[in-house]
Amino acid sequence: MRPFTLDRPADTVEALRLGGDQPAADAPVRADAQYLAGGTTLLDLMKLQVMTPARLIDIAALEEEHGRIEKLEDGLWLGAMVPMADAADDPLVREDYPVIADALWQAASPQLRNMARLGGNVLQRTRCNYFRSLNWGACNKRAPGSGCAAMNGVNRRLAVLGTSDHCIAHYPGDFAVALVSLGAEVSILGADGTSRTIAFEDLHRLPGDTPHIETNLAVGDLITGFRVPAGAWTRRSLYLKVRDRASYDFALASAAVALDLAEGGIVRTARIGLGGLAAKPWRAHEAEVTLSGSALDEASARRAAEAAFADAETHGGNDFKPELGRRTLVRALLEAQAKEVRA
Ligand SMILES: Cc1cc2nc3c(=O)[nH]c(=O)nc-3n(C[C@H](O)[C@H](O)[C@H](O)COP(=O)(O)OP(=O)(O)OC[C@H]3O[C@@H](n4cnc5c(N)ncnc54)[C@H](O)[C@@H]3O)c2cc1C
Ligand code: SF4
Repeated sequence: MRPFTLDRPADTVEALRLGGDQPAADAPVRADAQYLAGGTTLLDLMKLQVMTPARLIDIAALEEEHGRIEKLEDGLWLGAMVPMADAADDPLVREDYPVIADALWQAASPQLRNMARLGGNVLQRTRCNYFRSLNWGACNKRAPGSGCAAMNGVNRRLAVLGTSDHCIAHYPGDFAVALVSLGAEVSILGADGTSRTIAFEDLHRLPGDTPHIETNLAVGDLITGFRVPAGAWTRRSLYLKVRDRASYDFALASAAVALDLAEGGIVRTARIGLGGLAAKPWRAHEAEVTLSGSALDEASARRAAEAAFADAETHGGNDFKPELGRRTLVRALLEAQAKEVRA
């Protein structure tokens, strides 16, 4: 690991001042100074020398300001500094937004969930092996313009939706898939103190020809939390994760599903996110449209799954993924339909 300095700001104002006081960079992940939340992603990547920030801004003291879970009149607020474990265990989240609790429960290990914060979790980076090793060939995400070794290399885990000729990396997280399915918003403070809110779906970018620019955040931006809108669908929701190893592992395929059903199982609203399969947390809009107004059964679930993967592209090692993704989504839809939900 290279030498770095550590700042411990006492509050948000001081953290933003430090975050803004640095040279411009084309993406926050390539900036000199990085916010340090739980450190479970950032320190890993620093040890691998994939990220080499000169300065860390430890935001632990911001937990009081941005570490709350609150019921809002029209939804749920999850502060960016809430530990993953606390959100997974929270009675309100478990009862009213089970898809979020499920996704967090199945993410990482207990030690990691205790340490990691929700803000850091959504900003975790791909697990593509070529990205995570300086010795393993070209990577446009790690070294822009160097090429992509995964394209014709080991790509079993990598994405089949939203990829480009420059990068086929997958977004690996679980919580973000639940957020995207529910149409959440993310609140951000800029380094100059101005606040803005954007759709969570717009936080992450597709790789295009600049895969190293992963989000629409600017250098110094601080995520303060997430607003999840309430709706008839949030209780009939779940997260289904398929992985190689049950103890803890990243998703090969996952589906976050939230349903509002009328009499006879007719779908009023279906909200669907996909994980482990796409370049960013993926909202399956086509599948949602396909289901709307239909009776939910195995045949209609399969039609929705076909729509979700109509544009899938594979690269050899991950040829199995579209069908795994379709089956995961069908199962998640049918399990959500069968779920007993308290009024
Ligand atoms: C062995 C292992 C297994 C794992 N398995 C899973 C899994 O199955 N599913 C899953 O979802 N995750 C998994 N993870 C990833 C883990 O969940 C993340 O490492 C963790 O959530 C990151 O949170 P953190 O608080 O430690 O972030 P940090 O490492 O502190 O930060 C990550 C990035 O976010 C930035 N950042 C942090 N907070 C903010 C903020 N508020 N505003 C702006 N920028 C911010 C940091 O500057 C940094 O660039 C695993 C990790 C490991 C090591
Ligand atoms: S898929 Fe993306 S992250 Fe992986 S080697 Fe190619 S450019 Fe790098």
